[in-house]
Amino acid sequence: MTTASNGYMNGYTKMEDGFPATRLFNQGYSYTYDDVIFLPHYIDFSTDSVQLNTKLSRNINLSIPCVASPMDTVTEASMAVSMAALGGIGIIHSNNTASEQSSLIRSAKSHRIPFASTDIPFLSPDDSISSASVFNNSPCVFITNDKNNKNLLGVVDKLTWESLPDKEARISSYMQKNVVTLPNTCNLKDVAGYLTKKEMDFVPLVSGEGEVIDVVSKWDVERINGFPKTSGFPSVGENGEFLVGASIGTREKDKERLEHVVKAGANVIVIDSSQGNSIYQIEMIKYVKKTFPNLDVIGGNVVTMYQAQNLIQAGVDGLRVGMGSGSICTTQEVCAVGRGQATAVYKVSSVAAQSGVPVIADGGISNSGHIVKALTLGASTVMMGSFLAGSTEAPGAYTNQGGERVKKYRGMGSLEAMRKGSDARYLGDTAKMKIAQGVVGAVADKGSVLKFIPYTMHAVKQGFQDLGASSLYSAHDLLRSGVLRLEVRTGAAQVEGGVHGLVSYEKKSF
Ligand code: 5GP
Repeated sequence: MTTASNGYMNGYTKMEDGFPATRLFNQGYSYTYDDVIFLPHYIDFSTDSVQLNTKLSRNINLSIPCVASPMDTVTEASMAVSMAALGGIGIIHSNNTASEQSSLIRSAKSHRIPFASTDIPFLSPDDSISSASVFNNSPCVFITNDKNNKNLLGVVDKLTWESLPDKEARISSYMQKNVVTLPNTCNLKDVAGYLTKKEMDFVPLVSGEGEVIDVVSKWDVERINGFPKTSGFPSVGENGEFLVGASIGTREKDKERLEHVVKAGANVIVIDSSQGNSIYQIEMIKYVKKTFPNLDVIGGNVVTMYQAQNLIQAGVDGLRVGMGSGSICTTQEVCAVGRGQATAVYKVSSVAAQSGVPVIADGGISNSGHIVKALTLGASTVMMGSFLAGSTEAPGAYTNQGGERVKKYRGMGSLEAMRKGSDARYLGDTAKMKIAQGVVGAVADKGSVLKFIPYTMHAVKQGFQDLGASSLYSAHDLLRSGVLRLEVRTGAAQVEGGVHGLVSYEKKSF
């Protein structure tokens, strides 16, 4: 017996089992990812052959469907660099001044390899040896007398500052002059090869203007090379720089911010608004498209077909979907509006697909299964906040909370974030009173995104294999043609679908 391309054995009649998406999502319920489950289909390919390459927006291709959210506890330069290195993208947040946001974009674009160190250790010639001790995580400190840290005078390695008995001596008395550097355009392979050939422990990477951009040690090379790899390519533009996105708001002053971030090299603009179907956003979309016709602009957030249609007509190149689905979000509680994320992604994707506009499923992702569901329901990428916020690459330092290493993660609609300016996202900047639509919290240390995103992508590939979808495009086809079937999970089915009935267990994902 042979197998047809839809996975049914030739000669057998097609059987009705489960619901096609169009029927399931037209019953008047607002479903979240956990409410629904896909029925497995037919496998005739290996997990490794599943292709996760996709589109962020009309003109931006990615190797993996992952986007770091424009939140001030998620995406600054370090996250943007690592996400791009993995084949995804980070959107630098705008809860700062336009020049701060631009320098984060410039910093991300000046790197070719994921950050070895987040803070480059600089001291002035007159500083004492003891001042170097705050840089104990670095293999060296650089001595410069320029406030922009250009014009490198010398370098002192860690062994020197640790072994010198006179801690008050001037650091410049012990610096090694004529520092060997490499251009910051070198990739990891170039740097690793150079360190091995010259038997050096570390080498600074320097921009064309003479600014030290990074310092890479042989231990960093080992660490980065030890991470598992995604099958895709890094996200780079024609000039070899990493692709980086920037968020802006919808106010008049955001037009100035737009100029700044474009000048800094932003490759895509995300208009950041919790309810995107507004006159302010529609005008901003038109303005961006008129001013920079070759720049992709992503609109949102939307959750209905009507909202999506309006923004598509205004000219968006991508749509961000989600209202009230974020882990730190209280919008549905406070404002009584929003939509279950599975329904929202399916509904918006079905209208966006007709215009060739890729959809970003934003918020509510807490495991690889949610990513599989979002992508299969029609999204081209997922945007994540909490999933990435506990990583090494997220802004902020780890603290200890009840014996656990955690990082702060806050909603952009929390009072704390809005005091810095993010209230415009909720149109609260001109309101008399500020009402929170988010909370401030903490998430557990997850290590580097360079480690856990490749594992997560492999788990996503396994999900696609079970569905019989060898790519995102194939998953979308199978869903729309009604071949893929879903069901709603009852409360008991959801309990059964998780670990249950054990006295204790340890859950390790990889
Ligand atoms: P998460 O991945 O943590 O579930 O959700 C992240 C998403 O939640 C963000 O990309 C953004 O769309 C949304 N978000 C961020 N901060 C807030 C907030 O304070 N309130 C609301 N309503 N949504 C937020």
